[in-house]
Amino acid sequence: MVCDVELEVLLPHLAAVQVEGLEAGTGLIRITARTRDGIAVACPDCGRSSDWEHSRYVRHVTDEAVGGRPVVIDLSVRRLYCENPDCPKTTFAKQADGLTARYQRRTRPCRGWLSR
Ligand SMILES: [Zn+2]
Repeated sequence: MVCDVELEVLLPHLAAVQVEGLEAGTGLIRITARTRDGIAVACPDCGRSSDWEHSRYVRHVTDEAVGGRPVVIDLSVRRLYCENPDCPKTTFAKQADGLTARYQRRTRPCRGWLSR
């Protein structure tokens, strides 16, 4: 069972997502999470809000190590339709605020740690 209070203290950047599971074997720590449903998101091209879900897909992002152990987050991300008929973007993915960015395979905290 995952305790939300402990996870928020340990990994505060996961507050933007819904954590569904955590596997901590002897090596890798694997966290399963999903971006939240039912929240309208602005299209990155035209800015119009949409909550019309097209699909979901799973991104595997590397996070900062915990206790020297590598952490991978299997993050289920929403793909939404842009509802603006004049927008060139048909669909777009909802990024997890403070956690992921387009085309990045590492979380924002992990990228910050690497750049230091
Ligand atoms: Zn758009």
